[in-house]
Formats: sequence, C-alpha cells, structure tokens
Amino acid sequence: MREELSEKNITCPYCWETFSVLIEPSLEVGESYIEDCYICCRPIEIFIAHNSHDSVDIRVSRIEGNEF
Ligand SMILES: [Zn+2]
Repeated sequence: MREELSEKNITCPYCWETFSVLIEPSLEVGESYIEDCYICCRPIEIFIAHNSHDSVDIRVSRIEGNEF
C-alpha cells in the first residue's frame, strides 16, 4: 500500500502568507494537528474537515493562548 500525502495550500492565520503542507492520509475527519508556519514559524492548528480518496478539506486556526 502506498503512503500518499495530500498537498494543500493553507493561509497562515498569523502572517497571512500562503504555503503548502502535506496532509497525512491517516488523519481522520475531525482530527487536528499542529504545523508550524513555514514563514513565521508560529504553530497553526490544522483541522481535517473532510477526507476522501483524493480530496482533503482543512480548516486552519490559531492556537489559543499561545500568542507571540
Ligand atoms: Zn505565518
């Protein structure tokens, strides 16, 4: 079985730069994980809103109480 990763463009909720992240296919809908912004290095919560064979819908949000 191949481990395929979905590449998604996200917009950082801190610096508003757009960059791409790789979403692991093992993540289930409703799960979230933390990815550091590639530009400003602040932690972004990435929430899996929908996940099917070739499409992943994600939401991004700031980490509460962890403002820099
Ligand atoms: Zn950023």
